[in-house]
Amino acid sequence: MLIASLTALATLAGYAVLCAIQPFTVCRKCHGTGARKVTRHGVKVCRRCHGQRYRLRAGRRLNNHGRRIHHDGTRPNPSPRPRP
Ligand SMILES: [Zn+2]
Repeated sequence: MLIASLTALATLAGYAVLCAIQPFTVCRKCHGTGARKVTRHGVKVCRRCHGQRYRLRAGRRLNNHGRRIHHDGTRPNPSPRPRP
C-alpha cells in the first residue's frame, strides 16, 4: 500500500514538473502538422490546435485555472474610477 501510494505521488509530482518545464505538447489530433486531411485531396486547418501544432497540457491548463481563481479571490478589488 505504501509503495503504491509513493508511486502515485511520484508520478503526480513528475507530471507537475513536466507541466512546469514543458507546458505545451504536440497536438494528438494532427500529430503536430497543424493540418488534417478531410478528403482525398482536401486539407483543412486542425480544429483542436487551430493550426498551431501544439496544445497546452491538461495539467498546465488546470494549474492556470487554479492560479486564476486564487488571483481573483485574494487580490483586492480595483477601486472604482473617479467620475468626471
Ligand atoms: Zn492539431
